[in-house]
Amino acid sequence: MDIHVPNRLSLARLPTPFHLLTRLTESLGGPRVWIKRDDLTGTAMSGNKLRKLEFVVAEAVRQGSQVLITSGGIQSNHCRTTAVLCAQLGLTCHLLLRGDKPNHRDGNALLAYLVGASTHFIEPAIYQSELNSIFAKTISDYADRGLKAYAIPTGASDEVGLWGYYCMAEELLSDFRLNGLVNAAVCCATGSGGTHAGLALGLHHQGYQGLVRGYAVCDDRSYFINKGHADMIAWHKRYCGEASGSYPDLDVNDDFIGAGYGVVDDDVIATIKHLATLEGVLLDPVYTGKAFHGMLTQIRAGQFAEYRDVVFIHTGGIFGLFPYRNQLCNYALD
Ligand SMILES: *Cc1c(COP(=O)(O)O)cnc(C)c1O
Repeated sequence: MDIHVPNRLSLARLPTPFHLLTRLTESLGGPRVWIKRDDLTGTAMSGNKLRKLEFVVAEAVRQGSQVLITSGGIQSNHCRTTAVLCAQLGLTCHLLLRGDKPNHRDGNALLAYLVGASTHFIEPAIYQSELNSIFAKTISDYADRGLKAYAIPTGASDEVGLWGYYCMAEELLSDFRLNGLVNAAVCCATGSGGTHAGLALGLHHQGYQGLVRGYAVCDDRSYFINKGHADMIAWHKRYCGEASGSYPDLDVNDDFIGAGYGVVDDDVIATIKHLATLEGVLLDPVYTGKAFHGMLTQIRAGQFAEYRDVVFIHTGGIFGLFPYRNQLCNYALD
């Protein structure tokens, strides 16, 4: 297969660390649990989105864009990362955020504000139904001012962003070789789908046979299977010049979403506190906390019994802890 690899900016600190969670592994008495520290791709500009943005922003810059527009929740890690990146590259950042304007800025929203991103708060029902036309209107408003704006979809999950975790697959397999892992089960959170789909495609192309499970934090299993598949087909068309290719089946679990995106149950809070205390690893409430909790619950239930090794991809999100301070502290005081 002839693959045309697009340009890429070098933004993330790679390779990220890969290590065993020793005390957690001991306490489980089951498979060894490893962690890939993609929360450490940087500091304010960090997490999984940075790997995708290396490709997406390279494309935006190639097209001569001066403005990057993207969208997400008010506490979006993706929006914060894009905002910091714009400031570092001298670009203008315009964020379309789902929700009413908050009374004060916290967590990711505070950081996006500090680096000078323009923020446009959109009522959830309107965001749901009119996001595409709001993107189009924003682009044309910038064009009227003589500025070229580039639209990055939510989470940078499209065929360009897919490259981030497509390439990460190679780094992960090198971690496996160095640490003697064979066909481990790989687990990650899935929110806009591009991390899981990119990783699954990249591992598949490298002949990897192990499980690659995405734990949904919103939407449902069929949504992610369809979205991931559509992005893989678009990727194949754009970079291999043909629509038909060999695609992996996506293993998506939607049993641990709880009451919805950003709504966190106390058992997830307990898992965050447990891992933080046991290993000094901080998960976030919205993505990695839920996914890790799902993975741990399934390990305890014996669902990974056939695997000697289970690997969690820590996709970041630390700033998302702060807006949950009350829920986190109430738990700690119990
Ligand atoms: C966005 C995000 C995810 C999910 O990645 P997708 O590619 O959007 O599915 C997981 N963890 C964190 C911390 C994120 O910010």
